[in-house]
Order: sequence, then C-alpha cells, then structure tokens
Amino acid sequence: MRACAHEDLRAARPGDSPVKAVVYSGYGVTPTVTQVPEPACPDGGVVLAVGATGVCRSDWHAWRGHERVALPHIPGHELAGVIAEIGPGVRRWRVGDRVTVPFVCGCGMCDYCMAGDTQVCPHQTQPGFTGPGSFAERVAIHAADVNLVALPDSVDFVTAASLGCRFATAFRALMAHGRLGPGDWLAVHGCGGVGLSAVMIAVALGARVIAVDVASAALDRARELGATAAVDASRDPDPAATIREITEGGARVSMDALGSPATAVASVRCLRRRGRHVQVGLLLGSASTPPMPMDLLIAQELEIYGSHGMAAHEYPPMLALVADGTLRPDLLVREVIGLEDAVTALAAMDRPSTSAGITVIELAG
Ligand SMILES: [Zn+2]
Ligand SMILES: [Zn+2]
Repeated sequence: MRACAHEDLRAARPGDSPVKAVVYSGYGVTPTVTQVPEPACPDGGVVLAVGATGVCRSDWHAWRGHERVALPHIPGHELAGVIAEIGPGVRRWRVGDRVTVPFVCGCGMCDYCMAGDTQVCPHQTQPGFTGPGSFAERVAIHAADVNLVALPDSVDFVTAASLGCRFATAFRALMAHGRLGPGDWLAVHGCGGVGLSAVMIAVALGARVIAVDVASAALDRARELGATAAVDASRDPDPAATIREITEGGARVSMDALGSPATAVASVRCLRRRGRHVQVGLLLGSASTPPMPMDLLIAQELEIYGSHGMAAHEYPPMLALVADGTLRPDLLVREVIGLEDAVTALAAMDRPSTSAGITVIELAG
C-alpha cells in the first residue's frame, strides 16, 4: 500500500466532540488509546461510526515505518460501520446506512475511476495510510458515491471487516485475474490471511487447491478449509516441482500470497502451460524484483498479474456469496478484541504469526 497525499490528523475541526482512537506519535512508538477530535466530513464523503475493523500486517508495516504516514497517525483500513454524517454532494447514501469500503478508495473523477478501476486510481485515498484510519470510533471516507459498499442485513460488522484487504483481494485475484473454474488446480503460496481466504474461495468454486507454507499449523488450517494437498516448503527443496508432479503438469492458476522472491518465482514455475500467476503478497524494498523466469513466460505463454484490492462496484457478487453462506470469512476470524487490545495486537506482529487467522477489533456501539 502506498501512501500519497497525506491528510493530517490535526486537520480535524477543533471543538468537535472527541472520539476514542488508537494513535501513535512516531514510527515504532507504542500507540495509545486516546481521545481525538471527530474527523471532519469531506465534500463528497462521509464519516462512519466504525462497527468493526480488522488488524492487518499492512498496519504493522506503516507503524514500523516501512511506509510513510503523517504523524501522529491512526491505523486501520479494513472496516465496516454505519454512516454517521454525510458531506455535501453525496447522492447515493444516507445517515444510518450499513456499509463497508475497499482499502483503496478512488477519487471518482479520473479516467481509471470512470472505467470502474478505482483500485488503481492515481489519486487514491486509503484510510489508515493516506489519512487517519479506522482504529477509532469515527473515520472519514472520501468520494462516498464510488467507494461505499452496502452491507446485506445478514452480514455483521465483524464478518464484513474480516473481508478486509485480504479476502476481497483474494476473491478478485482468483475471479478477475485467475479466472479460476471448477476442477482447476490452484496453488497458494503462503497461507496467512490472504492465502487461507484464497483456499476457501477456490474450494467454494469447486477448484482443487494445493497449499504451500513453512508452518505446519497454516497447512493444517488450509486442509481443514478443503485444500486437496499441502506442501511443506520448510522440508521440500522444490515446491514448484512437487506441485507440477501432483497436478500432472502444473497448476492452472497460482498465487503468491506471501510476497517474497522465492514464493513469487515458485508460483510462476509451478504453472501448467498457459497458466496464470497472480502476485498478491507485497514485495517491498530489496525484495521487489524477484528473478522472474521470463524464458518460461514466453515458451509456455504464461500470464502474470498484479492484484491491488477490489473496486466497490465489484463487491456485491462476493457479498451475495457471503450472505448465503457459500463463503464463510467469519471462519477465518481467530479472535475478536476491543479497541484497548489493538495496541497489543499490533505489537504482536513484531513476531511472525504462528496461528493462522484474522484478528478483528469490535467497537462498542
Ligand atoms: Zn480516480
Ligand atoms: Zn489489510
């Protein structure tokens, strides 16, 4: 996630009623739960009363200074809640509507947004990165008419927040880029939040899944979610070869859900001819240029995609599958905590996760 034009937390209107939020004053400085001014409602935007918000490794990256944010800062980008205030110019929404929002919000006016591709808008805003986020009782969202997604009544806030950047990104990676179909083999490299989401979605689509990870707990969870096979990359010197063997020629679609040179390359090498690789895991800094086997790309006519979230208008088909129980993102929620516990949850990400699953903060009323 890239931070661009930053909004300042201190730009909120003085004198507004204070709201509770998790705030850090510097990179790596322990956040505190404190009172901040209620966010100003942007023109064309809304202020949401946050119902639930996911805790994501991207929040940790920003806190640790791997991405620049305006300080002091409120993290949080995987949210669902109720519209508390509407700015001038908003046509589609009313106070009281239950909504969620993609982690990338488009400007609503550029060529990309006009074409429906808000997820790559050059003027994008991202709550929790370009502005104050949702580890707070209130959060401001820009360009509400293009960025808000109505929640079906049967989808609660914790479930909606668990869609976060991970489940929605996995859904779009498999559907729009992977074009995964029933019976296809999918390889998932890295079984954290996004990888397990991909396993669940692919199984629901009738695809066959091979899960790859170095942690046996993550592989066990992938099997529980319906993965046909699991490859332990801590013991297997060549997971790509093993996947080609199991699938008798390679996976139709493969996803690097971790984001490392080794997993990105293995994901490409495990494909069948004309297969499709989708890069979802972030490749930061020195890891950003993995040695891609472009010779294979040509000889086998492979396709390579990057996936950066999902535009709001693409959410309804996914939410319909959540509402009817075909997709169960709630099963990926490992724990539901209060705002006070968010500080500990963020700091806990200094260590690699040993238990696969998503943590969601639920806010009281
Ligand atoms: Zn735009
Ligand atoms: Zn996230």
